Amino acid sequence: MNCKNCNGSSFIQATDYINLRPLDKKMAVGSEKVYTVCLDCGEVASIRINNPEKLK
Ligand SMILES: [Zn+2]
Repeated sequence: MNCKNCNGSSFIQATDYINLRPLDKKMAVGSEKVYTVCLDCGEVASIRINNPEKLK
């Protein structure tokens, strides 16, 4: 995988520890987001959640 911004290939996964929740279920536990960040320029290559089934 290469960064679409700087073409670098060094990435790290990071999280902000804020869970993503469904709009219509504000009390849901939700799931932590995992960002894949370029170490060279800071571009966020992808945002994924750990447990998509928790949004159901
Ligand atoms: Zn980059």
